[in-house]
Amino acid sequence: MTAVAVADLKQGHVPSGDAPNILRERGQREVFCGLTGIVWLHRKIQDAFFLVVGSRTCAHLIQSAAGVMIFAEPRFATAIIEERDLAGLADVNTELDRVVEQLLARRPEIRLLFLVGSCPSEVIKLDLSRVAQRMSRTYAPDVRVLNYSGSGIETTFTEGEDACLEALAADLAPEAPDAEPSLMVVGALADVVEDQFRRLFDDLGIGPVTFLPSTHAADMPAVGPKTSFLLAQPFLGATSRKLEDRGAKHLRAPFPLGTEGTTMWLRAAADAWGISEQRFKLATAAARTRSERSLERYRESLAGKRIFFFPDSQLEVPLARFLARELSMELTEVGTPFLHRQNLDAELALLPDGITLSEGQHVERQLDRCRAAEPDLVVCGLGLANPLEADGVTTKWSIELLFTPIQGYEQAGDLAELFARPLTRTERLNV
Ligand code: SF4
Repeated sequence: MTAVAVADLKQGHVPSGDAPNILRERGQREVFCGLTGIVWLHRKIQDAFFLVVGSRTCAHLIQSAAGVMIFAEPRFATAIIEERDLAGLADVNTELDRVVEQLLARRPEIRLLFLVGSCPSEVIKLDLSRVAQRMSRTYAPDVRVLNYSGSGIETTFTEGEDACLEALAADLAPEAPDAEPSLMVVGALADVVEDQFRRLFDDLGIGPVTFLPSTHAADMPAVGPKTSFLLAQPFLGATSRKLEDRGAKHLRAPFPLGTEGTTMWLRAAADAWGISEQRFKLATAAARTRSERSLERYRESLAGKRIFFFPDSQLEVPLARFLARELSMELTEVGTPFLHRQNLDAELALLPDGITLSEGQHVERQLDRCRAAEPDLVVCGLGLANPLEADGVTTKWSIELLFTPIQGYEQAGDLAELFARPLTRTERLNV
């Protein structure tokens, strides 16, 4: 379901306030809700299960976004809140207890159960945190039960991951008093990307390195004052604050998109570990060269092309920086749902002067600006892509950027190709 809501700056988002050149808009917006994050999170944490407490609409969203798995048992489901629950005629807590009991009896491999709130569960004010605490006591030590909200009232689609990781961050074990300094990479990454980063950190002499989330519930990292963390995704504001509350130190850096972003991201960790410039160059040189070469073939088709970002994934600012600086694309407008200033400062400093940066959305006004700008390529959500394509505008679905491994040196070329492909398709159709 496409959530259409009145955009507002949510509590916890740092307002852009006095920042120059930022157009702040409120109005109707077109975004997917936070339940969407389950689609990639359930693949990442392999012994977790995501139980959405929601409506048939929520169930349809997850099923259609994740695809129907015929041969594998899915690790997500929806406990449907029926009309009699909404009317207060049934005890939702009792029903939920029954559903979870059946689920855990049938799926003994589950070690981590997320109860995921939705618009309907929030409407009936179901307190899922109390339910999760109660169930955790019942099913300990075999199963941890955590909760977070994926509601469309509260979230854009990547905030589902932020809410999920915030819940995990709150639940991480404290590090041992004699723990050595460690680096935590935060954000769900494809396994192949995780392996590449692990090797690079090894070559740099940085470690131990942990990842949040880990592939298995039992391997979630510990956290405390000896932990430094790098965000792998820009939309993890609440997770970042939770980790800082737990004593961890945020290493602020641009995000690992493209050669430059990846280098600066790795360098933030290298600086914290006191790694010499010589060693840094030695450890990264080969991958950097491969990354730079992989971009060359796309530069010709992308340089000078004008791109417009509608606010959707919250990846817009780092992507805009990568496309402008490494592929010479021209930024017409960079829209983002929220600007986490403390996470994006390093990125904002790298954007070209004079671009239009917008925060929030008034979709009609933004469509007018987009048409007036006549961009070659528009990055937007699924709800806007079809009407824009019907108007002859070439689009890129922003949600694809979450389903595709794009971080790190080895993926820089694939990332560029995601933007080159729709332009090539349009050129072919126009021949
Ligand atoms: S959580 Fe809300 S916006 Fe998302 S699918 Fe359910 S009802 Fe729709």
